[in-house]
Amino acid sequence: MTARQDQTTDPELLEALLQARRGTAFFARKLNELSDEDLDGPSLLPGWNRRHVTAHIGYNARAIARLIEWAATGTETPMYASPEARDHEISFGATLPPIALRYLFDHSAVHLNVEWRDLPAQAWHHQVKTAQGRVVPATETVWMRTREVWTHAIDLDNGAAFSDIPAPVLERLLTDITTAWHTRGTDTGLLINVTGPDLTFGDTTAQNPTLITGTLPGITQWATGRGTRGVTATHNGTPLDETPAAPKWI
Ligand code: ZN
Repeated sequence: MTARQDQTTDPELLEALLQARRGTAFFARKLNELSDEDLDGPSLLPGWNRRHVTAHIGYNARAIARLIEWAATGTETPMYASPEARDHEISFGATLPPIALRYLFDHSAVHLNVEWRDLPAQAWHHQVKTAQGRVVPATETVWMRTREVWTHAIDLDNGAAFSDIPAPVLERLLTDITTAWHTRGTDTGLLINVTGPDLTFGDTTAQNPTLITGTLPGITQWATGRGTRGVTATHNGTPLDETPAAPKWI
């Protein structure tokens, strides 16, 4: 029997698909480590328990699969009917029995993967619209999913850390976040220095910036608003007792 494989041969896209699939497998592993009772426990996200996170990841796969169907058929199928519909779906999903919740995650992930795999090479360039109204090529959906599965695996709060995320994913995530800050002008006076791979983000023209320094996983964790471990802040060369909270991301 021949294994079915991706229709695209674009090496960059295949690499991106690999990161999304690895992230999905990582989320699956963390979810499987949780007992049914554990699912009732809190996540790292305010107001959400682990059931909400799992339901969100399941419905996110379905929503992204709708974009791929749109790219394949040309018939507009949005991610969600409305922001309220999205939130309602998550609240409902969080009440499912554990077996149904786990099935939702597994089945939606498999379905999305099939949609990606079977999308004809040229259809990957077709334009679709994100939940925020951004018009993007279908290729962008791979990144949209990648950042969801990796970051929300950490939100399950059972041992996953930013250091588990591959460096290229962290780098792109940090670029996304700091670009959003820059667009909104919320990064004024904040210069961010990543050590390890030496990278600089933030307000690079500031006269007298607050300098935030840390490793790539540490800085990314801080930038997503998930803690300040491994991150230091200085102003005028003087270390600050407390690292300032990162500007809002989403
Ligand atoms: Zn999310």
